Amino acid sequence: MSSTAALRADDLRYAWHPFTPMARWLESEPLVIAEGEGCELVDTDGNRYLDGVASLWCNVHGHRHPRLDAALAEQAGRLAHATMLGLANVPATRLARRLVEIAPERLTRVFYAGDGASAVEIALKMAFQYWALRGVEGRTRFLRLAEAYHGDTVGAVSVGGIEVFHRIFGPLTFATVLAPSPNAYRRPPGRTRAEAEEERTAEMERLVAAHAGELAAVIVEPLVQAAAGMLTAPDGYLRRVREACDRHGVLLIVDEVATGFGRTGRMFACEAEGVQPDLMTVGKGLTGGYLPLSAVLTSDEVFEAFLGTTFFHGHTFTGNPLAAAVALASLEVFEEEGTIAALGPKIALLERLLAERVAPLAAVGDVRQCGLMVGIELVADRATAAPLPPERRTGDLVCELALGHGVIMRPLGDVVVLMPPLAISEAQLERLVAVTARCIAEAT
Ligand code: PMP
Repeated sequence: MSSTAALRADDLRYAWHPFTPMARWLESEPLVIAEGEGCELVDTDGNRYLDGVASLWCNVHGHRHPRLDAALAEQAGRLAHATMLGLANVPATRLARRLVEIAPERLTRVFYAGDGASAVEIALKMAFQYWALRGVEGRTRFLRLAEAYHGDTVGAVSVGGIEVFHRIFGPLTFATVLAPSPNAYRRPPGRTRAEAEEERTAEMERLVAAHAGELAAVIVEPLVQAAAGMLTAPDGYLRRVREACDRHGVLLIVDEVATGFGRTGRMFACEAEGVQPDLMTVGKGLTGGYLPLSAVLTSDEVFEAFLGTTFFHGHTFTGNPLAAAVALASLEVFEEEGTIAALGPKIALLERLLAERVAPLAAVGDVRQCGLMVGIELVADRATAAPLPPERRTGDLVCELALGHGVIMRPLGDVVVLMPPLAISEAQLERLVAVTARCIAEAT
């Protein structure tokens, strides 16, 4: 057996993949990735693929970036791990300072975790305990949005709103106040999208007011509900959430796990509307997409409420030095390579390419873009936005075809997602959109 065949056989025999229908997987021939270079992944047979979804939305500067690799090796030569329970360590301390320097000014403290979902759990628990510590009774609930996604642990699922992922775990979750998704691509007939989106924004404001006395916090994904299919919010929505929270003294948790670190064209998405969160979660791109590290950034006000007590929460690998060292190097690369400044032209090129090559395709109902986050919604009927029959698995089919053209993509249902590393070149962007357009045309 070739080593690829042996690895495939072992994967099929021993591994269980996340968010993967395993019966179908067991009938497949998995691609086994062995190496990465820049924006490409290389399989065990040496075939190269463009990493069209940035290894699940996290890769920033490309794979095997020399600065990040060196930071990891250098830190490995000093210390792989020491606990932050009762100790500080060099990279986690430096990174905390750096994060506070680049984050919205209100955020002054950094609490580390491992994955995005664990950061969300921490933010929820901090917001909950904050009110108890302030001696305010009854502010125990969270306002969440339909179509939200904040991760897969039980607290994060409680504030999520994606039916297919979350319905089964309903009985495990805590009660919340549910506001509509701000994106009204799908809406009842008789209203324009702008009208429907204004109604939904007003409904969010009404719910914050109506439940003010019982809300600990509102939790939102800023600018775009990513996992729901890149559902973009109308301009001003995030600012109006902040204003509603301010009017009623409710904390605002902004979940920047997907949007943080340049993804939307700014370092953090909430900068676009000048919003200062009380708590902000980050993950994914924090280490340039190299290692699991996430964090919750909080205001002084939240932090100070805990000074008389202890926040009883922590993970073994909180503030892991290897991950923190790579995250520091990633932030340095942002400066050295002018990553954010270089995004403007790439975002504009992507917009033009999508308008020219993808939007006109008969099966494309909506093209949603926020920076280098794109969702292309495939539909049966553009006029009514009627979905395609799910059993046709059109989104999966497009991505299977793309693999044949050397591009790795992963859909969200029938939404084709483009989320390349921020380091993608203009030529690679052209290739990504050309392959996408061709595969959508072939599949539909
Ligand atoms: N929040 C948001 C907005 C996300 O998009 C995700 C993951 N896609 C998470 C939280 C969860 O992060 P993780 O998968 O690292 O737990």
